[in-house]
Amino acid sequence: ESDTEALLDAIERIDERLHDEQDYLTELDSRIGDADHGNNLARGISAVSEKRDDLAEMALDEAVKTVGTTLVSEVGGAAGPLYGGSIMSASQELDGGLDAESALAFAEAYREKLTERGGARPGDKTMVDAVTPAVHTFQRAIEEDDLPPVDALAKAVDAARRGVAYTVPLRASKGRASYLGLRAVGHRDPGATSTLFVLEELLATAE
Ligand code: ADP
Ligand code: MG
Ligand code: MG
Repeated sequence: ESDTEALLDAIERIDERLHDEQDYLTELDSRIGDADHGNNLARGISAVSEKRDDLAEMALDEAVKTVGTTLVSEVGGAAGPLYGGSIMSASQELDGGLDAESALAFAEAYREKLTERGGARPGDKTMVDAVTPAVHTFQRAIEEDDLPPVDALAKAVDAARRGVAYTVPLRASKGRASYLGLRAVGHRDPGATSTLFVLEELLATAE
């Protein structure tokens, strides 16, 4: 299977998952936001899936970049530019194809771009709370523990899951939820939760 075929498999899984979770993600966003996160992402991933035939003709980095630009233009809100812009920018790391090294470079570039764009730090109750521990765990598993990429990704998913749980007791310092002050406490962050779902589907594709 080519790298681009693997990407198309991942997109198919993520599309199905985000549609399955669309109402749940929107319900989470109704508690601490404006009740559209699941709908925003479902619309975005549908637009990506509609480009399947075009993506199939592209090298991996170009296809991933196109996924990013599509998300930026279709998702809107805070999440569109954050997800899409970070994917677009990190796609450069995949110009030599997919292996442990380029996957790690992609993950690190994604985290860097996301935090640079949104200005959120860990503990601000955003998607950064899932991404940061996931990327750090992935990096340690590959560089220090020498684990195969799939095992490293499995650890990263566990770290993201803990990161989502960690958002529950927090107040938000970025995004719409920051207007709520203490009323955001007790709710998990929608963007961190959707990030976990995407990572779970990437893992399922890699397994
Ligand atoms: P909007 O808030 O514009 O309606 P969404 O509902 O689609 O956008 O996405 C909300 C999610 O975006 C939040 O749950 C949070 O994870 C993420 N988010 C918002 N602002 C930021 C930011 N500055 N940095 C990182 N993530 C953010
Ligand atoms: Mg919203
Ligand atoms: Mg909105």
